[in-house]
Amino acid sequence: MTIKPKNPTVAKIRRGIVALVALLVVVSVLLHRPEYTAVDEGGGPAEVPVTVAPEEESVGEGSLDWEYPPGWVDYSDLPAVEELGDEDQPGLTNWRYILVNGLDQSNYLRETYYPDMEEIEGGYYFQRRAAEDLRAFLAAARAEGYIVSISRTYMSYADQRVRFNGMASTIYDRGELTLAEAEVQVKEQGYYPGADEHQTGLAVNFVGEGGEAKFSTPVLEWMREHCWEYGFILRYPEGKEEVTGREAEAGHVRYGGQLAAEYIMRKGITLEEFRGAYEEDEEVVWEW
Ligand SMILES: [Zn+2]
Repeated sequence: MTIKPKNPTVAKIRRGIVALVALLVVVSVLLHRPEYTAVDEGGGPAEVPVTVAPEEESVGEGSLDWEYPPGWVDYSDLPAVEELGDEDQPGLTNWRYILVNGLDQSNYLRETYYPDMEEIEGGYYFQRRAAEDLRAFLAAARAEGYIVSISRTYMSYADQRVRFNGMASTIYDRGELTLAEAEVQVKEQGYYPGADEHQTGLAVNFVGEGGEAKFSTPVLEWMREHCWEYGFILRYPEGKEEVTGREAEAGHVRYGGQLAAEYIMRKGITLEEFRGAYEEDEEVVWEW
């Protein structure tokens, strides 16, 4: 399967909406002109809302106290879209950047989506094109003396459905919600079948000694620091729950290729934000 390229219809609709909004603004300005409002049955002319621009705070000489708002990211050094991907799948359509999350149905994988995989170790399979990088990453951690193992790689759609039903019935069994309500709750946590990134074969969960997977687990700290060198990102960082639609996860890393991985980890952003930066970029290029 290939990732859907940016949908031209969506761009058209967006431009349509912008044109419509512009038209509405013009119409509303015309309607508020006194000569139109004068014929209002209600008598006096309707009040024209006056927007007063807030006075600009004067910045004294040498005052450099300006701070960017929290979460602000400088995307001025975003890699050019032509640098992404390869000849077969250029730009964001490349398999490396496939986006799967529970936030939007368009980000769900189909039941028939099945990646081409090979075994890494212990019966865990990974996307064939990224298998060498995963092996190198694991080997590097172990060469540092860490004990690390894989606790999950690929997860099938069928297994996700089983998990979804299980989670929903557990909630339902508490007797507070209907089954339908319980299913909505599970869906909102991002556990809908097809919404789990593990189905791509590009995600891996690591655990340290004794199955430990906390943010403070030393081997996971090391792996977070070095993952980009092997083309991996921390997929569910703390504080980004609303962006990814998932609880933070210390041991879940995701392959994205070296170029994107380095950028994402250096900026402390998510795959959603990385992709979004390109889409926003496109929006400022108006095609009238
Ligand atoms: Zn995971």
